[in-house]
Amino acid sequence: MPKKSFPLSHSQLQEIVKKYPTPFHIYDEHAIRENIRALQKAFAWAPAFREQFAVKALPNPRIVQILHEEGAGTDCSSKAELLISDYAGVKGEEILLTSNDTPADEFQKAIELGAIINLDDISHLDYLEKNAGLPESLCFRYNPGDLMEGNDIIGKPTEAKYGLTRDQLFEAYRMAKEKGVRRFGLHTMVASNERRTEAFLFTAKLMFTLAGELKERLGIHVEFVNLGGGFGIPYRPEEEPLNLMEIGEGIHKLYEEMMVPKGLGDVAIMTESGRAMTGPAGWLVSTVLHEKKTYKDYIGLDSCMANLMRPAMYGAYHHITISGKESAPCDHIYDITGSLCENNDKFAIDRKLPKIDIGDLVIIHDTGAHGSAMGFNYNGKLWCAELLLREDGSIELIRRAETIDDYFATLRYPGSIIK
Ligand SMILES: *Cc1c(COP(=O)(O)O)cnc(C)c1O
Repeated sequence: MPKKSFPLSHSQLQEIVKKYPTPFHIYDEHAIRENIRALQKAFAWAPAFREQFAVKALPNPRIVQILHEEGAGTDCSSKAELLISDYAGVKGEEILLTSNDTPADEFQKAIELGAIINLDDISHLDYLEKNAGLPESLCFRYNPGDLMEGNDIIGKPTEAKYGLTRDQLFEAYRMAKEKGVRRFGLHTMVASNERRTEAFLFTAKLMFTLAGELKERLGIHVEFVNLGGGFGIPYRPEEEPLNLMEIGEGIHKLYEEMMVPKGLGDVAIMTESGRAMTGPAGWLVSTVLHEKKTYKDYIGLDSCMANLMRPAMYGAYHHITISGKESAPCDHIYDITGSLCENNDKFAIDRKLPKIDIGDLVIIHDTGAHGSAMGFNYNGKLWCAELLLREDGSIELIRRAETIDDYFATLRYPGSIIK
């Protein structure tokens, strides 16, 4: 088995392209279900475990529906993401709002849906009460600050805009309790694309310590500890996947040592993973339009950075294969580009690939999270379609490609067609 695979043969893909022109992202339903099942298996020991899928990774109601069928809730950071959850059938406390710099209408929508609200700041308690009223159940997001200074595992929390300091956290729970909030959760999110087991154990230890302190100091018995997301994926073929079972077992051990003796053995565990659920289950498929030979050899695709921003934005590696040329020797070196008037619109630089011909179908791997989701309209480029490869092998269109009429729909000018 090659470490980077694509679920369709060359001839199957050619058939699909006849009906759905490139570019498009295609997601593998089976792989998504396998990914969440693996996470749930690693946490099967927890008295109640729920993955709150971070909607921003792949904000498509059809995908959220599939994950919900597997038992997932959602983690949202905007009104649109709350609505995606609602439309996908995710209801009430299955929805978590973890936003920051939150506008009033977002809090109002969360209250209306009965979602669990995860506050990012101590001042948001008053803001929420004034603008939407206080719910029965609240959660706060912890920023561990310089408790971890110099710790390369989670970076520098003091530079992160998220969450409450330790002192604020205790004060916020105290205030919320005084205001009549009865049920509580505890949240943090400090890792990103992390594959080292110790990073997750570190977070768990931190959170279990806090849960114990909340009980001792304030008499607050949290209902859940949300360990956040950040489960990494191997973007490069030579990278190892994270060891979910080891992470789950390690956290289990800490739970037995730190939570159970304090009478906190009934506290639920949550994760809010995005990338690890859908990232490896998505591919951006494009057609080669041009080959240009100047100082370098450029392959121009019919997609661009507007369809996948990660390489240009983070210098992120995304593996590339050419449909039908999977076993051909990688004896050519190319820059793979899009059409934006930005020189960083390159999916790959100096990449070794088989000889590429115009019309070839280029498969960019691991685009199922933060791929289509980060789309934009710069240079008048349009969002591409999203397809779902069902478990029965059929193809379902789950987002049509944006049209030029969609693009003009928001523009107003003398003589504009749409008033
Ligand atoms: C982005 C985000 C996640 C998901 O992160 P992944 O790296 O995709 O797992 C979870 N929680 C919050 C609050 C986030 O902002």
